[in-house]
Amino acid sequence: MDNEKIYLDYNATTPIDPRVLEGMAAVGRDNFGNPSSSHCFGRPAAEIVRRARLQVAAVLKAEPEEICFTSGGTESDNLALKGVVLPCLAAGRKPHVIVSSVEHPAVSESCRYLESLGARITFLPVAADGTLQAAQVAQAINDDTVLVSLMLANNETGVLFPLAEIAEITRPHGILLHSDAVQAFGKVEIDVKALGLDLLSLSGHKVYAPKGVGALWVRSGVRIEPLLHGGGQEKGLRSGTENLAGMAGLGLACEILTAGMADEATRLRRLRDRLEMKLAAALDQQLIFHGHRQLRVPNTCSLSVPYVDGESLLAHLDLDDIAVSAGSACSSGEHRGSPVLRAMGIGPELAQGSLRISLGRWTTAAEVEIFVEKLTAIVRRLWAISPLYQAR
Ligand code: PLP
Repeated sequence: MDNEKIYLDYNATTPIDPRVLEGMAAVGRDNFGNPSSSHCFGRPAAEIVRRARLQVAAVLKAEPEEICFTSGGTESDNLALKGVVLPCLAAGRKPHVIVSSVEHPAVSESCRYLESLGARITFLPVAADGTLQAAQVAQAINDDTVLVSLMLANNETGVLFPLAEIAEITRPHGILLHSDAVQAFGKVEIDVKALGLDLLSLSGHKVYAPKGVGALWVRSGVRIEPLLHGGGQEKGLRSGTENLAGMAGLGLACEILTAGMADEATRLRRLRDRLEMKLAAALDQQLIFHGHRQLRVPNTCSLSVPYVDGESLLAHLDLDDIAVSAGSACSSGEHRGSPVLRAMGIGPELAQGSLRISLGRWTTAAEVEIFVEKLTAIVRRLWAISPLYQAR
């Protein structure tokens, strides 16, 4: 990582691990064969794909043939949702899908599209701490429900949903359960069978592999329709000549994850908790922290600074060479703050003053100290010139 700049936006994307980069470079240099070719150039390429599939499956405690490589989280989510729902629509049914109101746009926008084609979608609300109860799913199920799609961890707050409990509800009804695990993958242990899932999405660039590669895990026996038709690669589920270096990179990244996940989670949790504690103290306990304190991934901190706009915090931090995310979004030209925080019932003012700080493999204690110091100084400066803060 850059020695001067401080990167605390690992949930947006991660740098490629040098070991991954090295492995990918070797693949790019030494293997250009098409894995579908049976000759001496194709066979080693096919072997690279086979190994990558094993490595990805191992992290999920899944079978290698259940891994379908894709171009990333967005494609995996699209494939899961449309792959289940489009055939139902084609058969003249009116399928019902249950999702949460804090899903990533890769899920929520796919739902809106399916809704425009005749599917019915239930968006489950979340509590003020970002959590969701399995009972909400039970109440929303009806005779037409074909799919429940809920994220494992939220990208903004890091809050975890109780997928194992939800699977207990969906399974007896024969309803498929998909999880967008893009933000949980690599941060918490995932055992797809123990969780009782049918489909799971993951993305390479959140786990120190390159952008543009990901996977959809499809439980053996689950049938979904492909989005891409062509040469029939990935057992017909995702046609297109394989992204050999990308797959090898994701495989290597998975192997590295498996080696030290528990220790890394403990290290990040300590750093994140220290960051939250120090910031809260430095700013006289006036910050608002979002999301359930325990039920969340270890690297993520979501907070609001009252009377200050998240975008201006971001710009000031950027001047200090510190990268975080504002967590705010602009919808139809109207700034109302982060949709995730709004769905948690947080008002527009606080939602607009939100920051997402996400730690990762190269975050150090010294960086956390500098961040706390710089953010404290920025907030104090902005409060000093804020009429609203003065008049509070
Ligand atoms: N789902 C979640 C929860 C995410 O955080 C992201 C990326 O930020 C995605 C899906 C999309 O993944 P990708 O960028 O690989 O398309």
